Amino acid sequence: MAIIIDGKKVSADVKEQVRIETENLVRQGVQPGLAVIIVGNDPASRVYVNNKKKACEAVGFLSREYALPETTTQEELLELVRRLNGDKSINGILCQLPLPKGLDEKQVIEEISPMKDVDAFHAVNVGKIMIGEYDFLPCTPAGVMEMLNSYDIPVEGKSCVVIGRSNIVGKPMAMLLLHKNGTVTITHSRTKNLKEITSAADILVAAIGKAKFVTADMVKEGAVVIDVGMNRDENGKLCGDVDFESVKEKCSAITPVPGGVGPMTIAMLMKNTLKACKLQNNL
Ligand code: NAP
Repeated sequence: MAIIIDGKKVSADVKEQVRIETENLVRQGVQPGLAVIIVGNDPASRVYVNNKKKACEAVGFLSREYALPETTTQEELLELVRRLNGDKSINGILCQLPLPKGLDEKQVIEEISPMKDVDAFHAVNVGKIMIGEYDFLPCTPAGVMEMLNSYDIPVEGKSCVVIGRSNIVGKPMAMLLLHKNGTVTITHSRTKNLKEITSAADILVAAIGKAKFVTADMVKEGAVVIDVGMNRDENGKLCGDVDFESVKEKCSAITPVPGGVGPMTIAMLMKNTLKACKLQNNL
C-alpha cells in the first residue's frame, strides 16, 4: 500500500514558516504585499482568487484585489500592472488566468516587473529557471519539489517522466527535476509508446488535464506518482489525471486529488511573495 503524500500537511508547514518570517518582517516595519488582478466573472477564477486572498490573510500579508469588469481593455489592464509595478507596498503581482477573450495574456505577463512576478511566468524568470539561477519558481512545480523533499524522496539518478509540456507546469517541472539530477523525459500528446516510457519511470508526474488518464498498467511497481491534474469525473467530482484507486495499489507513494498538489500551489505563492518582499527590501 502506497504512502499517500499529504499536500495539505506540507502546505500548512510551508505557510506556517512564511507566517513566522512575516511576523518578524512586520516587527521591522515591512509587510509583504500581494496584488491579485481578476478580470471578468469566471467562477473557477473567483474561487482561486478567494483562496489566495485567504492564504495572504492567514500568513499576515497585505492582500489587494483588483476585480475588473469583462469589458476591461488591454490598455487599462496594462496601465494597472504598470501602476502596481511602481507601488512600493506591493511586492508580488498576479493576474489570474485565463483572461476573457480579446485580452492578450502574454502581453500582460510581460508587463509585470520580473521582480514582482511571483507566478514566475515572465520570460526573464523562465530564462533564469533554465540556467538554474532563479529568484522565483512557478508555484505548482515548486510545490511538487517541496513535497518530494518533505517526504525524503530522492530525485538524483532517478528516471523521471513528466506527462505534459505546458509552460506553467510540464516544462518547468522537468527543469526542476533536472536541476535535482533526475534523468528526465518529457512526454506529450504526440509521444509514441507513452505507456512504455511511463512504465519505466521511478518518478512519474502527470500534468495532462484528462481525468484518470494514468492507469495502473502505465506505472512501474514501486514508482512515486505525482498527480497535478484537476479535473471533474463523470459525476462532477474533483479528480486528478491519475486513476488513484488502481495506481495506489502499485506505486510506493502517490499524491491524492484533492489534497495533493493543489494546496501546495498557494503555499508556494506565499513563499514567492515573501521572497519578493525580502529581495525588494534588501533583506
Ligand atoms: P495544458 O496547458 O492543457 O497542457 C496539457 C499537456 O498535456 C500538454 O502538453 C498536452 O500535450 C499533454 N497531453 C494532452 N493529452 C495527452 C495525451 N493523450 N498523452 C500525453 N500527453 C497529453 O495543461 P496545464 O496547464 O499544464 O495543466 C495540466 C493539468 O494540471 C490540468 O488538469 C490543470 O487543471 C492542472 N493544474 C493544476 C494545478 C494545481 O495547482 N494543482 C496548477 C496548474 C494546472 P501537447 O502539448 O502535445 O498538446
